Amino acid sequence: MTISHAQSTPLTCPQCAQSFSAEIWLIVDTAERPDLADRCREGNIHHLACPHCGKEGQVDAPLLVYQPAAAEAAASSPRLLFIPPSQTSEQEDQALARALLALLREHLGSAWDDALLGQFQPVPRPLLAGFMSEDAAEREAARQEMDRAAQAAMDQLRSRDPAAYHRLKREQAAQQAMQNTPLLRELQAFIQARTWTATRRVLADHPELLSDEADDVLSQLIASARESEEGGDTERILTEHRDLLRRCREVGIEQAFADLTPPSSPSPAGKSEDLPPEAQAAQRMMRALTALPDDLRTALIEVMANVSSQEELDRALDARPELRAALEKALEEQE
Ligand SMILES: [Zn+2]
Repeated sequence: MTISHAQSTPLTCPQCAQSFSAEIWLIVDTAERPDLADRCREGNIHHLACPHCGKEGQVDAPLLVYQPAAAEAAASSPRLLFIPPSQTSEQEDQALARALLALLREHLGSAWDDALLGQFQPVPRPLLAGFMSEDAAEREAARQEMDRAAQAAMDQLRSRDPAAYHRLKREQAAQQAMQNTPLLRELQAFIQARTWTATRRVLADHPELLSDEADDVLSQLIASARESEEGGDTERILTEHRDLLRRCREVGIEQAFADLTPPSSPSPAGKSEDLPPEAQAAQRMMRALTALPDDLRTALIEVMANVSSQEELDRALDARPELRAALEKALEEQE
């Protein structure tokens, strides 16, 4: 099966009003089709000419550019570039991106690698040539141009709607953190260790748990837990572990754990051989999140961050049956 994909689309010429059918490229594999890669760089991948009157124009279609690792230009360029159409909303763009990623996944078959999702980069159409350039300086210039545009858009949002700005910032931070699967897996091991001795062993093996990034991930999970369950124990357990990591950074691992477990006191956070049900629920949730594919996990965290009660979460998931199904299946597998 070829990787690149074109869709036959019926069009009506704006000049002569006659109908015709055009092949519109939606996925371009740069290694498979260097000719199409050149057209992307030249900015005419979506240029068409009417077969009846010759009128030329550009169709407003999305495009996913796949740059396999072997391609020389891919060395310092994201391997998946997504160009949204110009007239669509952000939600429509996300849906289009998801659909094209699913199609690419299908075309790649066993060559698909989830790590590719970490290489996904939406790019405005005018900057596509820069991102695909074989010249590293041009790629860098395109990246900086995009950072500037993103920053300008954020600045504008901040002055126009501060609340929306802060919500977006939080979501972006969470999305970034949630892409870090190894860290999430280590946090899971850290939290679900059954005794404090075991918890400490996990920490000794994974010093990156003491990083700012780990702190950010836990803080985001705590915020999600707070918003999706009222006064729940997931929040308490996650908070306890985050505070422990913070204390380790302040006074050292030795001291932090010594403070934690005076010999005669009961161990906190249900760290015993018999976990209370709420601790088990929190652990199941962590395991389920870790088990999900990156794109679903990110989408789910996004949903969780935007609801303030279990009821709202239920409603939000009603609108996203694919997320609900994935979460329920992942939770079931953790039983
Ligand atoms: Zn025409």
